Amino acid sequence: MSLAEIKARIHKAEEAAGRPVGATQLIAVSKVQPNERVEAVLDEGHRLFGENKVQEAAGKWPEFRERFAGVEVHLLGPLQTNKARQALELFEAIHSVDRPKLAKTLARLAQEMGRCPDLFIQVNTGEEPQKAGVLPAEADDFVAECRALDLPIQGLMCIPPVDEEPSLHFALLAKIAARNGLEGLSMGMSGDFERAVALGATHVRVGSAIFGARDYG
Ligand SMILES: *Cc1c(COP(=O)(O)O)cnc(C)c1O
Repeated sequence: MSLAEIKARIHKAEEAAGRPVGATQLIAVSKVQPNERVEAVLDEGHRLFGENKVQEAAGKWPEFRERFAGVEVHLLGPLQTNKARQALELFEAIHSVDRPKLAKTLARLAQEMGRCPDLFIQVNTGEEPQKAGVLPAEADDFVAECRALDLPIQGLMCIPPVDEEPSLHFALLAKIAARNGLEGLSMGMSGDFERAVALGATHVRVGSAIFGARDYG
């Protein structure tokens, strides 16, 4: 699918849901993609990207940022505390805040550096043991804990289980966000971004539909 086609679909889904057109930001997930493909999307004028790993982002974005003005890169994958400082330097937003130890480290470093990216708390809506994120029942307490640390929490993020209807998880995430007074909803990927927009996504994270399949070989 072309970038233009995906944007058109997002706009259509916004209209159908009675939301303002343009309310949803499209994060082009460039992890593992060859630089030529990323550059082609930059050449089309797109500026908002997502990466899964600190190391990979450090290797490719400083140079792109020099060549293209206005680039914004969000970290979507799990963050180890020993990479937190580097993450604060590299990203405009982090979507994977998922535990007290990480929250405390981010708060300390943000104080020290005098700035902090926008933060999203990852919620493990499917309660899957192998997946990162706080459990839905623990989310309210964790939001409060992050706020007490003065962290700029913008919203919540989820990755629904692969074998379940994602809309149920999007609706759950939206409900937890609403009762905590959070506006940001990072949800929806290549296969389900329109359903996420219908349920209020402010950020959809679309990789393979834009860039083609990832080649991990
Ligand atoms: C890889 C990834 C995506 C994009 O997935 P696609 O199915 O390629 O659109 C979105 N969010 C996260 C957290 C990811 O790791």
